[in-house]
Amino acid sequence: MAESKIKMVEPPEGINGQGYYAGSFDKIIGLARSYSLWPLPFATSCCGIEFMATMGSSYDLGRFGGENMLFSPRQADLLMVCGTISKKLAPVLKQVYTQMSEPKWVMAVGACASSGGIFDTYSVLQGIDRIIPVDVYVPGCPPRPEQIIEGFMEIQELARNESLRRRDTPEYKALLQSYNIDID
Ligand code: SF4
Repeated sequence: MAESKIKMVEPPEGINGQGYYAGSFDKIIGLARSYSLWPLPFATSCCGIEFMATMGSSYDLGRFGGENMLFSPRQADLLMVCGTISKKLAPVLKQVYTQMSEPKWVMAVGACASSGGIFDTYSVLQGIDRIIPVDVYVPGCPPRPEQIIEGFMEIQELARNESLRRRDTPEYKALLQSYNIDID
């Protein structure tokens, strides 16, 4: 029989025996979450096209378990903001974020989402972190798919190593309150 080309992910540190495995619950859940991120692409302009390339067969985000695009915030756990966000659109983005269930992560894809980019004007939000917390910033105008994948892998790293209790901590609640977002 031909040797399989499928690579298995290493299990988290733990004790392996015949028919059993014992490890940290945090790490096991973290591993599962990191390879089943469901992205919600909030694409408004050119960076969205780079995101589409990232999803295409050449780059194939599905290799990282992130191929299940969702446009329903209640089912997605990774908000990928790709493109220019006008101040008029900002409340909509914030509403989408607040409708997502915990745990959730946010990636600012490209210069516009990260800082307003070249649009230093009265009508453009100068970075989405003015209205919602951001976990990973991907630089570039536009970033190449490799960079978006790098950002995705950073999010995976966060998801893998995050404590299951992080979302209940006073620090996390204070972070959301600083954005006037009610966690309860
Ligand atoms: S960062 Fe550049 S490529 Fe991306 S949306 Fe802004 S102008 Fe377009």
